[in-house]
Amino acid sequence: MDCKETLESELNELRNTFNSGITKQESWRRSQLKALLSLLEEKEDDIFKALQQDLGKHRIEAFRDEVGPLIKSVNYALKGLKQWMSSKKADLPIAAFPARAELVPEPLGVALVISSWNFPFGVSLEPLVGAIAAGNAVVLKPSELAPASSSVLANTIHTYLDNKAIKVIQGGPSIGQKLLQQKWDKIFFTGSAKVARIVMTAAAINLTPITVELGGKCPAIVDSLSSSWDKEIAMKRILAAKFGTCAGQACIAIDYILVEKKFSATLVKLLKASILSMFGENPKELNSIGRIINNNHFSRLRKLLDEPGVKASIVHGGSLDEDALFMEPTLLVDPPLKSGVMIEEIFGPLLPIITVEKIEDSIEIIKSRPRALAIYAFTNNENFKKKLVYETSSGSVIFNDAIIQYVADSLPFGGVGECGFGKYHGKFSFDVFSHEKAVARRSFLLDFWFRYPPWNDKKLQLFRSAYRFNYLEIILILLGLKKS
Ligand code: NAD
Repeated sequence: MDCKETLESELNELRNTFNSGITKQESWRRSQLKALLSLLEEKEDDIFKALQQDLGKHRIEAFRDEVGPLIKSVNYALKGLKQWMSSKKADLPIAAFPARAELVPEPLGVALVISSWNFPFGVSLEPLVGAIAAGNAVVLKPSELAPASSSVLANTIHTYLDNKAIKVIQGGPSIGQKLLQQKWDKIFFTGSAKVARIVMTAAAINLTPITVELGGKCPAIVDSLSSSWDKEIAMKRILAAKFGTCAGQACIAIDYILVEKKFSATLVKLLKASILSMFGENPKELNSIGRIINNNHFSRLRKLLDEPGVKASIVHGGSLDEDALFMEPTLLVDPPLKSGVMIEEIFGPLLPIITVEKIEDSIEIIKSRPRALAIYAFTNNENFKKKLVYETSSGSVIFNDAIIQYVADSLPFGGVGECGFGKYHGKFSFDVFSHEKAVARRSFLLDFWFRYPPWNDKKLQLFRSAYRFNYLEIILILLGLKKS
């Protein structure tokens, strides 16, 4: 059997399972979510090892960013499931009286989840939680660039979950292409804008709904915080969100900093001191910063540093160890705004600091660039906070911290514009894999004569009232207590 036939027979099995109705049952959804929980708990060591192998992620970082948030998400889904699955009452206009209406969530069907390599468990299993909770059958295609993680996903999901409804298919772009040639009821894609365009083009053929989670350049504005405590906390949070999260290879990592010129030298001094206390004299030995995923990405980052004017802007770090795929936390002050480091998503441990005359100028810079997945601002200035939220557009705005939005079940995670569209996490993950079906129920008891021809002006007048007023207002009109 060739690959195409194997894929088709796997998909047929998933479609048959979905059509059998089993995935719609609450008991099935619960059993799969619980099995996923067991997988995360029992295979924690395998996951840690794979993340160490693929990305040099320390096991505490791996728990903080991947296993821990996933356990939290599965528990959250188990707790909310009954209510999420229940239908919600809706109102109908008076012209349809008497009637009842409801929104009934139904699964979309057989879903394809394509994920990236940087959080290979997080960005694969977070969507899977939503897809299962919503009652779908799923194919997950993890990234070939994190092979150890991809193989843990394939081996464990196969043994823990219902293999007739949930499958992992491993491979790179060519397998991705073959998958995209199939008909899906939903595609959930996490990755680059370039591949998103390929995915969207394929989805258009079958009018498949799609969610696209991309990246971009997330700015962090750092105001001249007055208290030394605020400054110290801000530095820790900035460093953890850049160098301490997958070595900066995160879609919501701080990509660059915007700071007032008068505070810039102090900021650099504070960041350097914080780097020393967080990552030590020799960050490579401390094993608290991950490594670059592969040689291609390492060369890409090195090229960014080699561009004219960029190396000269380095004020800290800059040393590279190609054999270990390790890059020292690197600070750059005012690299050329037209250089790659200020145009492309950096996705690595390089942190440009761009100086502006006034803090308000940072808003203009942000507005002049493609919309970001997240905007961060470290400030206590309430007026500035309001202005930033009101005047800019982004997936999220976080004040005085970074990355925490990823673990918030109550906040939608997703982009706007160039950084993607659609949102998930928490109940939003259930919604993104569901269709809310409109169901209206009428009886034959009462029927308004003005709904049907032949038409006359009186019927028009009645329609105007029926669409304009609510039940209480109509009663008041009938009682002569309100004008129609
Ligand atoms: P990528 O687009 O290269 O790959 C993503 C996935 O698409 C992989 O599974 C890959 O095998 C597959 N793929 C590649 N070419 C394909 C093709 N022609 N047809 C079908 N599938 C194909 O992205 P990446 O390098 O894995 O991830 C990095 C990007 O992902 C960054 O831009 C980052 O910001 C973004 N990202 C976003 C989020 C988010 O939640 N918004 C999370 C993680 C990463």
